[in-house]
Amino acid sequence: MFSRILNYKIFNGNMRSLLDYIDRFDKVNIVSGNPQVLNSGLKNEKLFKSFTDSNAVIIPDGIGTVICSKIVGEPVEEKIAGIELMDNVIKQCELDGKSIYLIGAKQEILDNCIVNLREKYPKLDIVGSHNGYFDLKKCDEIVQDIIKKEPYAVFVAMGCPRQELFIADNIDRLNCKILMGVGGSFDVIAGKVNRAPKWMIKMGLEWLYRTVKEPFRIKRLGEIPVFIIKTLIYNKKS
Ligand code: UDP
Repeated sequence: MFSRILNYKIFNGNMRSLLDYIDRFDKVNIVSGNPQVLNSGLKNEKLFKSFTDSNAVIIPDGIGTVICSKIVGEPVEEKIAGIELMDNVIKQCELDGKSIYLIGAKQEILDNCIVNLREKYPKLDIVGSHNGYFDLKKCDEIVQDIIKKEPYAVFVAMGCPRQELFIADNIDRLNCKILMGVGGSFDVIAGKVNRAPKWMIKMGLEWLYRTVKEPFRIKRLGEIPVFIIKTLIYNKKS
């Protein structure tokens, strides 16, 4: 069920089995395990603890992670994109009458994201939201609002490592079932940026599409080879 990459356990089943697996938890932190996020855990003890806690599930979100699962000889069944898992969870929430809370992105993007979610899932109960621009050390009001509204799932879209730190700092206080960092997903749902064409996603080239569309991402591309090299070195030693 897991691929062991560096000291991480990466979920290696398909989307259906992941949804069933998540269901077993009382509270779960779903970590979008792309190289940038996993590298951040190797540099920051608090994040590493959070990603390897018994309430965390790391999904193979990114071609770099898929490649590393092959290097360690435990290939994942499929790449699982955070945004696709988020969509599946939301679909299920609408069916079951469970609520969600959204944190992240600029206010205008967040508003458009909510409009588009309401259009796609008319019965979805969005009990609260907050933009992603606040002081992580002074966000008690936001946390209290989430506690009060008791959402089933909280999606946090503030980029890495900000969203992962928010989750690590607050997971114990929050009374929701699912917490998930979803990066730039609100921008995609709001229609501000598009996902890559399907053929590019299939060929593992989503990173290339995103970098061409948003050239500031070029710096982040270095995270993929760094993660692969770390995996190769670790694998050789063990
Ligand atoms: N963001 C935020 N607060 C910040 C910095 C960024 O809410 O302090 C939001 C930003 O507006 C965007 C998302 O986080 O919506 C950035 O996601 P990014 O594309 O960097 O994430 P990725 O998909 O690469 O993980």
